[in-house]
Amino acid sequence: MQNYLRRCWAEIDLNAIVDNCRACHRAAETMAVVKADAYGHGDVQVAQALQSRLNIRNFAVSNLEEAIHLRTHGIQGQILILGYTPVENFPELLEYDVTQAILDEDYAKRAAATGLRVKAHFALDTGMNRIGLDADSPEVCAACIRSHLADFQITGFFTHLCVADSPQSAEANHFTEGQIAKFRKVCRLLEDLHLPFPHCLNSAATLWHPCPESKLERLGIVLYGLKPDYANTLPDGVSPALQWKTVISQIKEIRPDETVGYGRSYTATSPRRIATLPVGYADGYHRLLSNRGKVLLHGKEAPIVGRVCMDQMMVDVTEIPQAAPEDEVVLLGNSGTLQYTADDMAQTIGTIGYEIVCDISKRVPRIYK
Ligand SMILES: *Cc1c(COP(=O)(O)O)cnc(C)c1O
Repeated sequence: MQNYLRRCWAEIDLNAIVDNCRACHRAAETMAVVKADAYGHGDVQVAQALQSRLNIRNFAVSNLEEAIHLRTHGIQGQILILGYTPVENFPELLEYDVTQAILDEDYAKRAAATGLRVKAHFALDTGMNRIGLDADSPEVCAACIRSHLADFQITGFFTHLCVADSPQSAEANHFTEGQIAKFRKVCRLLEDLHLPFPHCLNSAATLWHPCPESKLERLGIVLYGLKPDYANTLPDGVSPALQWKTVISQIKEIRPDETVGYGRSYTATSPRRIATLPVGYADGYHRLLSNRGKVLLHGKEAPIVGRVCMDQMMVDVTEIPQAAPEDEVVLLGNSGTLQYTADDMAQTIGTIGYEIVCDISKRVPRIYK
């Protein structure tokens, strides 16, 4: 293990990611979604673990830089860019053997004009209105894909299901089934081409909307042990892979009526014992957690008091008398019998666990075990 400052760090359990992948695997093959540095977990480390231990041979990223980063660090098999790549960068798609999503007919034309026969998956828009050929007309989609058979090495097509994370809602399920029906229609119209990779399953759909026509499941958030939506229940054996930790840098006692931090947003109503932590919003610790969030230490909770600063923040450890400088503090993870996950933290400030882990900044070293 390399040296790191014991200031603020993330511990990533690659075994947990491998176990999570196993526990959520349903379709014929898995495509590991490792965009955004594997949701903050380290793209190369995560992809290497899945490649070497589960023989995963499909990876998805958001852009060309991420794809090249994987390719130049020993990742083999299919690497699919799920979003936009400028057509002037198509030579690099060929050079690094990267598969490009084709966003719509206009993009297909501009891409075809490069004369570079890159590997491609056509995107289908089945209702999200983000990217893809308009699958309200499956025949038009199928015809468009056929018309480009000579321009690209077309190895698949895919759609994205935008409410598959709400299986408790009849309305959401109805919408998702409608999206899947459009996807299926295109599958049927292109059956004769025997394209190896039609796919429509994100994490949520993999678990709650099985679709046998989808030859790949694009597992993202569940690999990392987090939920697509806070109301979800994940399969047994799925657990968060990342713990985020810091230490106490200083402890002080304050009197009633003293305040803590910028803007004096917290006022003590009784004598309080305040611990300072060397972590702040520049580490990706959300400032909206000011006076609302909490940390764990010695198997207990300590609430954040005052505003989260750029590089430091304060917590109230009055109820944890054994707390002392240098003690380990859990920002995300487990302490004693308590657990505080990125999903829990997200819930406090009205966002999703995805954003919490993606936001942990580069300044925070990732330690692998
Ligand atoms: C990010 C992304 C995924 C992964 O979604 P999860 O909810 O994390 O499983 C799958 N497909 C597409 C197109 C994406 O952009």
